[in-house]
Amino acid sequence: MIVIESAAEMRAWSWARKKDGKTIGFVPTMGALHEGHLSLMRVAVRNNDVVVASIFVNPTQFAPTEDFNTYPRTFEADKAKCEACGVHAVYAPRASGMYPQGYATYVNVERITDRLCGKSRPHFFRGVATVVTKLFNAVLPDRAYFGQKDAQQCAVIRRMVRDLDFGIEIVERPTVREEDGLAMSSRNAYLSAEDRAKALALSKALEAAKDLVVSGERDPMRIIAAVRNRLDTIDIDYVELVDAEEITPLDKVEGNVLLAIAAWVGGTRLIDNIKLEVSRQ
Ligand code: AMP
Repeated sequence: MIVIESAAEMRAWSWARKKDGKTIGFVPTMGALHEGHLSLMRVAVRNNDVVVASIFVNPTQFAPTEDFNTYPRTFEADKAKCEACGVHAVYAPRASGMYPQGYATYVNVERITDRLCGKSRPHFFRGVATVVTKLFNAVLPDRAYFGQKDAQQCAVIRRMVRDLDFGIEIVERPTVREEDGLAMSSRNAYLSAEDRAKALALSKALEAAKDLVVSGERDPMRIIAAVRNRLDTIDIDYVELVDAEEITPLDKVEGNVLLAIAAWVGGTRLIDNIKLEVSRQ
């Protein structure tokens, strides 16, 4: 496994593989790798000739008040995990190479970034769309793998790839959870034992909402209220029930439904979601 630090070198590596007719799978990450990330790498290794994983804590998707400086950085351990998964190249660009003095170009995906995380973190998707564009231009993947854990991010990337003609297949994979249901996240490392126990309320509330839908409930307000009830010990940022592609509110729970939560547990902002396919009456 090779570690590559510059976009020029990354592109040259990928072109050489493409010339040999090889397909390239790509898994973008911010490092502090856990089983959620590794599940994406393993499926990428199964379905492509070569696989690149990127490790880059992207400053443009953090607001000045957020955790860019304290975000966990575990590069040596991450490299070993990538290698164990069968990844062929780790792309770990430097921030100064990605955003040199005078950097001025950003990618904005409109409308589907207005709600959920886009509303509470207005800078966030501009940073994500910009860095993913730059990573795609360096790695030149045929397929790129993202986790449903960040469902709005998946919708944003799919829309960007479609709108800007990237010609890259976006593969969304299920959320990997701890045994008790907590969605794996690099930010779980911030949680105290007490917060870790409180954080379980997110996945439990989503499961309860799913049961309500399965038993026939179709009123979004009643489902949102039930979820909020179960989150009464933590500080909710949002609970929203939206169309999973357009990220717009639903009058009725039907179609491709995304139920998404963001909440503060201690000082840590956690997100989780479920998707439900509900046939239209
Ligand atoms: P991050 O390092 O948090 O930027 O995440 C990199 C990729 O891993 C994104 O596509 C995430 O959606 C995905 N990911 C993060 N946590 C999980 C998880 N628990 N299960 C599946 N994918 C995940």
